[in-house]
Amino acid sequence: MPNIVVVGMQWGDEGKGKVVDVITPHVNVVVRYQGGNNAGHTVVVGREKYVLHSIPSGILHNGCRCIIGSGVVIDPASLIEEMESLVRRGVTLDGNLFISRNAHLIMPYHPAIDRASEAKLGARRIGTTGKGVGPAYVDKAARVGIRMADLLDERLFRDKLEHNLAQKNRLLREIYDAQSFTVEEIFNPYLRYAGWLAPYITDTALLLSRWMDSGYSVLFEGAQGTMLDIDHGTYPYITSSSTTAGGAATGSGVAPTRIHGVLGVAKAYTTRVGGGPFPTEMIGDIAEQIRARGHEYGATTGRPRRCGWFDAVVMRYAVRINGVDTVALTKLDVLDQCETVKVCTGYRYGGDIITDFPEDETVMQKAEPLYEELSGWMSSTNGAKNEVDLPAKARRYLERLEELIGVPFCLISTGAVRDDTILCEDSPLTRWFPSVRSSLL
Ligand code: GDP
Repeated sequence: MPNIVVVGMQWGDEGKGKVVDVITPHVNVVVRYQGGNNAGHTVVVGREKYVLHSIPSGILHNGCRCIIGSGVVIDPASLIEEMESLVRRGVTLDGNLFISRNAHLIMPYHPAIDRASEAKLGARRIGTTGKGVGPAYVDKAARVGIRMADLLDERLFRDKLEHNLAQKNRLLREIYDAQSFTVEEIFNPYLRYAGWLAPYITDTALLLSRWMDSGYSVLFEGAQGTMLDIDHGTYPYITSSSTTAGGAATGSGVAPTRIHGVLGVAKAYTTRVGGGPFPTEMIGDIAEQIRARGHEYGATTGRPRRCGWFDAVVMRYAVRINGVDTVALTKLDVLDQCETVKVCTGYRYGGDIITDFPEDETVMQKAEPLYEELSGWMSSTNGAKNEVDLPAKARRYLERLEELIGVPFCLISTGAVRDDTILCEDSPLTRWFPSVRSSLL
């Protein structure tokens, strides 16, 4: 049975939640492998809308097992809130949700440091969600992080907490002029969280290995997107984890050789949240129009997203870094009212034309997009069941995008609900999961 990674190809918010939701009925296990509760997947099932931050959206499917892998950082209060809200809506967690013993905890001092450090950065601020994800990864790399398994050992947890807090309090008070914490105000609530979470904490890498041996199919669900990857994104305007497909192996403890394919998710245009270079950023009315039609406001923070045209340079880079086999293109319907649509085919920088993504921060900051303009289709794509049902000009747009990125599309999404999805014939997706065909028709 195939094990597949679903990865965002832009700056996150590509609509991965919906794509994962379409594929989940055809797999046995869904794994989150990086990031924290700074991610927000929105999934619409029937009339119900779910916003999930740490738990894979697979949890909404009966019998699907969900794993929060070791590469994820967990804010226990937020996770428990998410779990309780799912239980209230009738979702069964016992036997379906498993949390890695090695996943690191977000402690109350992490959001405090996150916010204080952003405030100090002024104009160079990253635009983090302020949830402490970055500082939790800092502690992980500095080898002082506290892990889920530590929560289950009261004495060890207290010891680590005391040691950490002595340093964090100095940092908060003396560098950031911020409030410090007492051991008790963290220890007592975290012990309560431990009681709640204990039944779910386990060796998830071993579990996954056994499940794969017995023929289970696994979907690795990426959060954020390629351009936010700590190694390969637009550093320093990135997130603190490995968002690219390679992160699926390290963040779950599954060998890369057991992963069979990569499905990339991209919007028919581009968005990004927070600071950093964005060559195809739109300005003026068109940006407002796309933001309004696409509801481009952060699922976690409500912040308006920056909107831009489709960037084939970024997409080709994402294909290369992730080894993308096939692309699910989302939100085509958002462009329905555009008289013309632009596609960035390359950048101009200092007299040169660049078609491969420039890793250099300065080049990216100053790159001027080279656009191809296509005529818009000015009619609704929503509800189309086959590619042939789409307006001819929309089909032309899709063909051009495929040519430019060199990878076939497998799904075209034209609306938020599951039914608004076109399945492209003979893509790697239908080869991996032939039953997707009958479920979408
Ligand atoms: P994710 O983090 O990559 O899952 O992305 P988000 O959840 O932040 O953003 C996707 C948003 O777009 C959600 O509100 C989806 O319901 C919605 N969405 C997904 N696909 C489509 C689509 O094809 N058209 C429209 N109009 N909305 C979509």
